[in-house]
Amino acid sequence: MDKGLGFADDGRMTMEAPKRSTTLRERLRRADPKLTIPASVAVTEMEPGVKVSQVRPGSLGDRAGLLPGEKLTYVNGEPIRDTVDFFFHAGGEEELELEIYNAAGEARTVVIVKDSPDSVLGVEVEQFTTQHCGCNCVFCFVHQLPDNMRKSLYVKDEDYRLSFMQGSYVTGTTLKDSDLERIARQRLSPMYLSVHAVDEELRRWLLGLKKARPILEVLKFFKKHRLEMHTQIVLCPEKNDGAQLQRTLDTLLSFYPTVPSIAIVPLGMTKWRDGLPPMVPVTKEYARKFIRGLKPRLREIEAKYGEPVAMLADEWYLIAGMAVPRYTQFDSIPQLENGVGMVYHFYRDFNAAKKLMPKKLARPWRVAAITSTLSPPVLKKLVDLCRTCEGLTVDVIPVVNEVFGESIHVTGLLTGGDLGKAIKHHPFYDQYLLPGNCLRKYDEKFLDDMTLLELREETGKLLSPVLGGALDFVETILEQAVGAVHHEVKDHPFLVKHWANS
Ligand code: SF4
Repeated sequence: MDKGLGFADDGRMTMEAPKRSTTLRERLRRADPKLTIPASVAVTEMEPGVKVSQVRPGSLGDRAGLLPGEKLTYVNGEPIRDTVDFFFHAGGEEELELEIYNAAGEARTVVIVKDSPDSVLGVEVEQFTTQHCGCNCVFCFVHQLPDNMRKSLYVKDEDYRLSFMQGSYVTGTTLKDSDLERIARQRLSPMYLSVHAVDEELRRWLLGLKKARPILEVLKFFKKHRLEMHTQIVLCPEKNDGAQLQRTLDTLLSFYPTVPSIAIVPLGMTKWRDGLPPMVPVTKEYARKFIRGLKPRLREIEAKYGEPVAMLADEWYLIAGMAVPRYTQFDSIPQLENGVGMVYHFYRDFNAAKKLMPKKLARPWRVAAITSTLSPPVLKKLVDLCRTCEGLTVDVIPVVNEVFGESIHVTGLLTGGDLGKAIKHHPFYDQYLLPGNCLRKYDEKFLDDMTLLELREETGKLLSPVLGGALDFVETILEQAVGAVHHEVKDHPFLVKHWANS
């Protein structure tokens, strides 16, 4: 049974702060007992063989007799070590010769000929286990976690395949020559690289490593093979700022367009840093000075390259209490997942939300928009819009992150426990909007392993996660308040859609 933020044996919710009782090594081992490939083993050196996880009924794979659980070792003579190999070798081919092993270990060869380029193979293979990083970064979030968080949070991934497939950042320090060869051969681009500094001594210190493949080697390799890598710098005050940052920017820009974007994100420090090197926090004053100092350089870069190659994460501006930039230049913002342009992206459908807003509700509907301490200014424009609707009240309730510490002020790190407390302190609302990014999509669990269902049961309130932007925010309210919408707006596009679906 969980201790800390979770449910006690008698079903009551316990609210004591989680305790750090074990070493990092013990916690990591406990969190990931079936530890995967050691970082020192290159993927290219692995034995071929992936398990077939699904075969769609009626598909080419099904008709060829493939079964879930069987092992696929070769496609057209090429070894298959993971999903990437499978897609690379099986994806565009019209004729496939598969080497398959059944549960008894008996081999057979299966030939599949696609009758048209659109024919679907209908075979899925098991996702690979992730390689782990060998770093001990001074700012690593995993090192700053309390106990009793979601288990997967304790895993320190460093896998170039995930970087290619999902956009997760790697340091490149675990890349072997054979991995680089594979990246070039299979054109695994773009990738996402954590750089932090190009001064090797400083970089190794930040990464907590005695030895690391020089970053320039990786950059030159990508340039030579005309591959792309988006880069990030975790900015640590008095460490990699100032002249070090200018040098890092100079070097990365010299690799443009191999390096099409550079995101600068602020150091995040939780209250769980026992035994870690002391660091200078990013305060409001620091953020203001940093933005003002860097602005001329950012403008110069944009003028030279015709696009804002180097960008600050929105969090900088929110910490500083300054207006966030608009990224009208991009159809899709390259470092959105890294927090660059999040606010701009959130408001991209504001006009549609505005059109949707009724003038009046038939009876009052009170909404609490629960969010992090940084976000009330972000929501202001939407709240102002909601205030134009008579009968609709939307109040923003900022929540202090007690689990990670007050200096953690982003929505994605809010836990079910902290949200629950805030809801109980503000019990008089009809509906509570929650930031969707603090829930894991597939099982609706918060970082502290509490589920949305548990939080609903605990609070007895109507809780609505908002997963998209401004339009989703408004729709999420109207979907619940719809019974309260005044008859004057019954031909409203939202209501027409709603009634058509009901
Ligand atoms: S690379 Fe650094 S920040 Fe990333 S998981 Fe490893 S130690 Fe943590």
